[in-house]
Amino acid sequence: MLYINGEWRQANSGQTLDVLNPATGEIINTVASGGKEETKEAIQAAKKAFKSWKKATGEERGKYLAKAAELMKEKKGEIARTITMEMGKPLPHAEREVAGAINYVVWYAEEAKRVYGETIPASHPDKHLMLLRQPVGVAAAITPWNFPASMITRKIAPAIAAGCTVVLKPAPSTPLSAIKVFECFHEAGFPEGVANLIIGPADEIGKELTKSPDVRKLTFTGSTPVGKMLLKESADTVKKISMELGGHAPFIVFEDADMGAAIKGVLGTKFVNSGQTCISTNRIYVAESIAEEFGQRLAEQAAKLKVGNGLEDGVDVGPLINEQALEKVENHVADAVQQNGKVLCGGNRYGNGKGSFYEPTVINFAQESMKITTEETFGPVAPIYTFKDEEEVIERANHESYGLAAYCFTKDLGRGYRMMSELEYGIVGINDPAPIVAQAPFGGFKESGMGKEGGRSGILEYLEEKFVSVGIGN
Ligand code: ADP
Repeated sequence: MLYINGEWRQANSGQTLDVLNPATGEIINTVASGGKEETKEAIQAAKKAFKSWKKATGEERGKYLAKAAELMKEKKGEIARTITMEMGKPLPHAEREVAGAINYVVWYAEEAKRVYGETIPASHPDKHLMLLRQPVGVAAAITPWNFPASMITRKIAPAIAAGCTVVLKPAPSTPLSAIKVFECFHEAGFPEGVANLIIGPADEIGKELTKSPDVRKLTFTGSTPVGKMLLKESADTVKKISMELGGHAPFIVFEDADMGAAIKGVLGTKFVNSGQTCISTNRIYVAESIAEEFGQRLAEQAAKLKVGNGLEDGVDVGPLINEQALEKVENHVADAVQQNGKVLCGGNRYGNGKGSFYEPTVINFAQESMKITTEETFGPVAPIYTFKDEEEVIERANHESYGLAAYCFTKDLGRGYRMMSELEYGIVGINDPAPIVAQAPFGGFKESGMGKEGGRSGILEYLEEKFVSVGIGN
C-alpha cells in the first residue's frame, strides 16, 4: 500500500510488485506500486502539510513522535518478523534493528524541543543580530533494504522533529517493513501529509523527487553510484542534500591487542547482516607477528556460525538479498583465489539452492590488487592483510576512496589516540566494534557521503539557518 495525505491506497494504475523472501525465494506478499503521478501527489500533500507543520511547537511535534515510538514498541515483534521475512537477517538481529529504529524516534521526539537559534554579538550598539533555525521544507528520503526499518526512522524522525514534511521511498525489495513503520506513524495521528510513503520503480520515483522544486531536501542511503547520480539529478533545483553511501571499513589489529576481543569484533562487524552493511569490516589488517594465529582463530569461529533461514532458532547468518548479490560475492572470492588468496573457511554457496546463502568465508594473504580490496563486496567474506608498522597501516587503511567506518584494536593508549586522529573516516571505533548510537553522528568522508544522521547533527540537516539583523536605534 501507498500512504499519501494520511490515506492508505493502491496505485492509480493498479500496478503491484511482489516481495520475495530471500531465504526461500518465495513470494511473501504483493504491494501497490506507484510511480510519477503518485509521487507528485505525495509531494503536493507534503507541501500543503508543511504550511502548518512548520508552525507546530517542538513540544507538539515531539509528542506525535513519542506516540509513534510507543506504537513501534507495541508492534516490535511484528516489525522484526517482517524484516526477517523480506530481508533475511536472523530474527534476534531484526529485533535489535527495531530497537535501534525506535531509539531514533525517541531521541528526536526529545530533540524536537531543542531546535535553538543563536544571538550574535553585533558590531554596532544599535543592532541586534540573530540566527534562526527553520525547517527546510519538504524532504524526500530514499532508503535501502539492508536496514529496512532503522534507516527509515533515522531520516524521518529528525525531519519531522525539525518541522519538515516527508516523502519516503523505501527499497522495492523491502517495502513491508516500511509499511509497518508507517502504520505506527499513521496510528500516532500525525496531521495528514506530514509523512508519505511511495513504493515503486526507483528510477521513476527518484526522478520526480529530485526534479521537483517543491522538494527542498534529499536524504539518501545507498550505493555510491546511485548517490552520485541523485546528486547530479538534484543539481538543477539545488537541494539541501545528505547522503550515506558505500563504505570499505578497515579493521586494524595491533600485536598488543586483546586478540579474543578483536576476533569477536570481526565476527560482529563482518558476518552480521551477512556482511551487507556499509560499516561492515572489509579489510582486516593484522600485525605480521600475530597474523597466522589470528587467521586460524577467526576461521575456527567463523566456521561455527550457523547459516540458515533467519526465522529458525540459533541462526547467525541469513541469506544475501538476492542472486546478483551472491554472484558478486562468488566473483570476488574467485578473483582472490586466483591472486593466491587462501580460503581458510567457507568459500562456497550454502544450502539446497533455494535461498541465496553464502558460507562465512575467511581469506588469508589478501592483496591490494584484489576485487575484495578495490570494490565493496557486501557479503560474508573476511580478507586478512598483514602489516609491519603503524605508519604503513595508516597509509593503507586510508587508501580507499571511501571513508565511512574504521575499527582499531590496541591496548596502547597513545597509539589509540594517534589512530583516532589519523584515520580518514567519519566513524572510528577504538577497541569498539559497535560504535553506532542514536545520539551520535553517523556519516562518511570522501565518497562515503556528506552530512550526518543521528544526534544533534542529524536534525541540523533538516534546518536552514536564517540570519536576521534588526536595527534597534530610534
Ligand atoms: P543497493 O545496491 O544496496 O540496492 P542502491 O543504491 O541501488 O543500493 O539502492 C538504495 C536505494 O536507492 C533504494 O531505495 C533503491 O530503490 C534506490 N535507487 C536505486 N536506483 C535509483 C534511482 N535511479 N533513482 C532513485 N533511487 C534509486
